[in-house]
Amino acid sequence: MDYNVLAPDRDRIASDIGELASTFVEGAQPGWTRRVFSDAYIASRAWTLSKMREAGLETRIDPAGNVVGILPGRNRSAKPLMTGSHTDTVHGGGRFDGIVGVVGAIETVRRLKETGTRLERDLVIVDFLGEEANPFGVSCVGSRSIAGLLDVEHLDRTDEDGVRLADAMVRAGLDPHEALSQAWKPGSLHGYVELHVEQGPVLEKSGAAIGVVTAIAGIERLLATFTGRADHAGTMPMDMRHDALAAAAASVVVVEREGCGAPVHGVSTVGRIESGPGSFNVVPDNARFWAEMRSTEADWLTGAKRRVAESIGIEASNRGVDLVVEWLNDQAPVRAHEKIQDTIARAADDLSFDWEAIPSGAGHDAAHLAHLGPMGMIFVPSISGRSHCPEEKSDFAQIAQGVHVLTTTLLHMDRTPAVRPSA
Ligand SMILES: [Zn+2]
Repeated sequence: MDYNVLAPDRDRIASDIGELASTFVEGAQPGWTRRVFSDAYIASRAWTLSKMREAGLETRIDPAGNVVGILPGRNRSAKPLMTGSHTDTVHGGGRFDGIVGVVGAIETVRRLKETGTRLERDLVIVDFLGEEANPFGVSCVGSRSIAGLLDVEHLDRTDEDGVRLADAMVRAGLDPHEALSQAWKPGSLHGYVELHVEQGPVLEKSGAAIGVVTAIAGIERLLATFTGRADHAGTMPMDMRHDALAAAAASVVVVEREGCGAPVHGVSTVGRIESGPGSFNVVPDNARFWAEMRSTEADWLTGAKRRVAESIGIEASNRGVDLVVEWLNDQAPVRAHEKIQDTIARAADDLSFDWEAIPSGAGHDAAHLAHLGPMGMIFVPSISGRSHCPEEKSDFAQIAQGVHVLTTTLLHMDRTPAVRPSA
């Protein structure tokens, strides 16, 4: 088959992305903000639904608020293919993160229809509810629900006003109880593939048009609390202090070094630090920081967790400062299925696009969908690597190449027999 005939309509993609960004934004917020449960987000769900319907899909909004479209295949009892992403943004976010995967999936369906290309299997397209981190501390609400990874504990979590996630869902017209029980069975998907912007600078730097994602990084998060003693900053000699902030500051560098020295994919960040009492002339008696480490390699993460805990313990005890380390939540790395990686690479080769294997440092809905079947992801370059900011941008010609690879990958997947889930 000549896969070039399936080339997407770049202007149609650009127009969809522009329409969503300009019509459904939280006006009072910076950038292109469209956070989960905001009025702009809720209004935008009808737009996504209508775009799917216009493309000829059978549509519904499921109890978790996922916008779902189905392109029926010839054999409706065969395990379906799934693709999708999300259209919510972070506060002050951009126009491309997630949106490219949803608009790209809809464009894929249009091109299949326009070229009379019929799939054997159903193709399910999903705009997953609330992928980004939210005040309830539950990311990927929609994809967790479909994958059976949303639980009662998630629904009971509250935002800073004490509102439960379950209540926020009810207010948005959703059904949290059904969201818990609608999960698809493990193994029920023939495969899941998601198109996304890279959100980093690697592809732009290498010049590759397509990233074949090898794995989605796992995360270890910690809260470190240092307790020392407040003293006069003029009279207390340096060697007699219990400076909580100095211990914390040295520990920040420990965390940074862990990522810098990683022999495999690994990054480590202290994202926030607080200390008190907060005067020029008082030795700080308390400090705490919030940090995370991410890697596609579970072994490195386990080692990093141990090494960081040990080293910051030494920084604290050297200063006679008490330390409590609380591990907040962890998430294991998720490998993209080898066969899906091969299929994406083959699709890029079919179209003569340069590709490169690349790990994903960011979390994605795809990590959850891997519970239902073989999973893979396609990245397109982000200009200057910018993301989660208003300047986030990708070139429309490169987005179109990504959509073309998505379409071609789905066609290949449709025709290959089931692959065994990764170990
Ligand atoms: Zn995203």
